[in-house]
Amino acid sequence: MIEINLPTPIEEFTFRGKKYFIKRDDLTHPLFSGNKARKLWFLLKKDLSSYKKIISHGSAQSNAMLSLSVLAKEKNLIFDYYVSHISKFLKENPHGNYYYAIKNGMNIFEKPYPRTVRKDEFFVPEGGYTKEAEIGIKLLANEILNWCEKTEKKVDVFLTSGTGTTALYLKKNLPTINVYTTSCVGGSSYLEKEFYNLCKDKLHHPIILIGSKKYHFAKLYKECYQIWLELKSSGIEFDLLYDAIGWNILLENKTIFENDILFIHQGGLIGNQSMLPRYERKYLNKN
Ligand SMILES: *Cc1c(COP(=O)(O)O)cnc(C)c1O
Repeated sequence: MIEINLPTPIEEFTFRGKKYFIKRDDLTHPLFSGNKARKLWFLLKKDLSSYKKIISHGSAQSNAMLSLSVLAKEKNLIFDYYVSHISKFLKENPHGNYYYAIKNGMNIFEKPYPRTVRKDEFFVPEGGYTKEAEIGIKLLANEILNWCEKTEKKVDVFLTSGTGTTALYLKKNLPTINVYTTSCVGGSSYLEKEFYNLCKDKLHHPIILIGSKKYHFAKLYKECYQIWLELKSSGIEFDLLYDAIGWNILLENKTIFENDILFIHQGGLIGNQSMLPRYERKYLNKN
């Protein structure tokens, strides 16, 4: 049985002389972590005994892929995962999410994913972008509300977005709190569309922050590596794909926040095992 540690703690964190609160959703479980644990919560709790297989797709280093491999193993289901491409380097040197997912028994296919599935196959959209994700994200919202009530604190919430699923359902379930996010995958109009597809009511949409620079997903940026190192030496390891961008955008926008900031750490630290060597090859000792 995998044990998920809930509620996750909220810790005080000082960075560049300012106080933040960090929701440590990276501490749910090492391999079933962060917002993937929240988004896939409904599946973990669902009776899947009439299914033989979980099918999903996305990138070969996806955090969702790793969590799904844990879930499938837990539920004794086959896990078939479709990717458009696996690099030769990764095939020859399995590491990061890819390594652990394969170790959990994932079957990986380098071809288009099946558009129709059989009755005994459960399909999970890329990144867990599904309405049922709200069930687990609502738990996250309630943990935050309980903490605010107990500590009598008023906060603004910030979290990064890929598909936007987590930010959207968090805002929907925190109607009285300002929730800010930023798009790490596409631009703001992509993210707005993602929100809209899940929920038509704009009142439930988080506020999207933008910075002076456009970031392309999974590319390397010196300021992302630098802020990640600085955050780590301040006491917390964040993920390099989303949070390193997120902190830069947050700091660029720091004057708009009305209250102390509660930053949601959404896990994904195994993913750093593939991102960090890339950064080190590019920037280490080359300042
Ligand atoms: C998946 C992921 C995100 C993006 O979550 P969405 O719900 O798709 O917006 C952000 N941070 C980390 C660490 C993730 O793994």
